[in-house]
Amino acid sequence: MSETLENLLQETRQFEPPAALADAANVTAAAYDEAAEDRLAFWARQAGRLDWAKQWDEILDWSNPPFAKWFVGGQLNVAYNCLDRHVEAGRGDRVAIHWEGEPGDTRTITYAELHRLTSQAANALTDLGVTAGDRVAIYMPMVPEAAVAMLACARIGATHSVVFGGFSVDALSSRIADASAKVVITADGGYRRGKPSALKPTVDEAVAKSPTVEHVLVVRRTGQDVAWTDKDLWWHETVETASDQHEAQPFDAEQPLFILYTSGTTAKPKGILHTSGGYLTQVAYTHHAVFDLKPETDVYWCTADIGWVTGHSYIVYGPLANGATQIMYEGTPDTPSKARFWEIVDRYKVSILYTAPTLIRTMMKWGDDIPAGFDLSSLRVLGSVGEPINPEAWMWYRENIGRARTPIVDTWWQTETGAIMISPLPGVTATKPGSAMSPLPGIAADVVDDQGQSVPNGGGGYLVLREPWPSMLRTIWGDDDRFVETYWSRFEGMYFAGDGAKKDSDGHLWLLGRVDDVMLVSGHNISTTEVESALVSHPSVAEAAVVGATDPTTGQAIVAFTIPRGSVDTAGDAGEALIQELRNHVAKTLGPIAKPRQIMLVPELPKTRSGKIMRRLLRDVAENRSLGDVTTLQDSAVMDLISSGMQSGK
Ligand code: ATP
Ligand code: MG
Repeated sequence: MSETLENLLQETRQFEPPAALADAANVTAAAYDEAAEDRLAFWARQAGRLDWAKQWDEILDWSNPPFAKWFVGGQLNVAYNCLDRHVEAGRGDRVAIHWEGEPGDTRTITYAELHRLTSQAANALTDLGVTAGDRVAIYMPMVPEAAVAMLACARIGATHSVVFGGFSVDALSSRIADASAKVVITADGGYRRGKPSALKPTVDEAVAKSPTVEHVLVVRRTGQDVAWTDKDLWWHETVETASDQHEAQPFDAEQPLFILYTSGTTAKPKGILHTSGGYLTQVAYTHHAVFDLKPETDVYWCTADIGWVTGHSYIVYGPLANGATQIMYEGTPDTPSKARFWEIVDRYKVSILYTAPTLIRTMMKWGDDIPAGFDLSSLRVLGSVGEPINPEAWMWYRENIGRARTPIVDTWWQTETGAIMISPLPGVTATKPGSAMSPLPGIAADVVDDQGQSVPNGGGGYLVLREPWPSMLRTIWGDDDRFVETYWSRFEGMYFAGDGAKKDSDGHLWLLGRVDDVMLVSGHNISTTEVESALVSHPSVAEAAVVGATDPTTGQAIVAFTIPRGSVDTAGDAGEALIQELRNHVAKTLGPIAKPRQIMLVPELPKTRSGKIMRRLLRDVAENRSLGDVTTLQDSAVMDLISSGMQSGK
């Protein structure tokens, strides 16, 4: 992959941190030196942010790689660290969650209140026979009870498995079966796009196929009619009537905390297992360092769904461990209007916003005038996660949302890594649009070639992690062999992330998407991300997804699926002309080798529920194959729309 294209290396724009932010930043450049001097001592100091019931004997046991144990012999309670200790320190009145329902109803929940609710839920789960080590499936809309359910499991040492509230019966029942879940926590439904959408019927069908499930706890959110079985219990009759006195027992640092299935962009979802002490250490540290969180004054908002790892680490565990005040929003960004996000930022004076490139590109498509109508001056740090962010989307975010003032932290990490691994630090790093910049202090990331040799600056290859980190996955649930095979077999002694990356001439890192998404065209490696960024830099394009399709002459040929911006005319000849213009635009930007063989103008792209483009389905379309597994797709009708609504040009 060293023969990659040159264009990203030509990005010359760079933005220094604002002086005021840098002067008062939580973390300075010294952190890199401290961690480099003694990585384990650095992480032990970060673990000191938490309250431990028993101090660890050993920071890291790496005697049986790749099976790591962090803070060996230490004991703590994760929920105690997220709740009780704040209340005990007199911070019980601080708002933990400003919750905003999609229809406009709101709830303000303090740390004391969240502590009380979690204690009740812990007692109720215990009464239902859930004990430490049992698995509980959580299938919920974005309501505070989702966080309460997770924290209650953590409190009693049970392992939660959160499943996206939009997944199908099959996706839910296979995850329940994989973890042998004993209890399911759900709701009658939630609000999405202005309507109550039902969850309970999916749970009923899934539970009917799941002999391990003994009870189903149902939160009443929408009040819609629901069928009832003898396993069902209303949350308000069970949890809300339980005692609110609950003493949190300490558990081993390696007590399993949760299983979470990866989003399924590539293959069959893997049940990623995370444990307690190391995980909480790294999510708390990174939330403090990367977002520069000042818990007394900041209002933090992560727009992810709780069913995605970002919701676990940066809505529930990191922010609550740090005593943050945050927004939790139930619905979609376009309900009741496309201004919903900016209304929320303006009204609650949000100071830190963490969202995804897919949302930023959508906002770009909707137009600059929408955010322009709001006071966004409270914002001081902006974050991005989930996919590579195209330089043009980065610049749009900076200018239209950050008003050319706020630093942007592009954070690379995975379900498997548990916490942020590569990111700028907002008070330290001079950022470049589209680059995740550098590994965080205490993290050993590198880019290597086919042989596992570190590439020089200017080179490209595979992203790897050379040393274990506290929040690393411990295994794939029930499948140690697949864990070793997937992540630790490609290169000796290194974690293989599955992503392509490049080092620029300063040694800064550029993520190029999944290794599977790198195309080989006439002997040249071309990353889908780079061609997509070239397309998105054209004023007529809102979004683009690029795949490599088998081609008799070039090996692989570039096929692009492109969503035009709302105002662009694509009828008849105009569409054909645009396609030609876009092909030439890519050739001009990246070189003739990257000129797409084919561009299709499409109304939508297939995405997972977390908003990532599912390129493997587009590859199926491009190669005229029948579609692979579509169970994790956000909206399965999209594929019909693409196949039928396609305007294609060669
Ligand atoms: P699956 O592994 O099942 O295919 P997935 O990889 O999409 O699903 P996640 O763990 O949610 O599931 O996503 C992690 C991946 O998202 C990373 O490996 C990377 O490809 C991409 N990613 C996340 N953040 C960034 C970022 N800031 N820049 C570039 N890519 C990113
Ligand atoms: Mg992945």
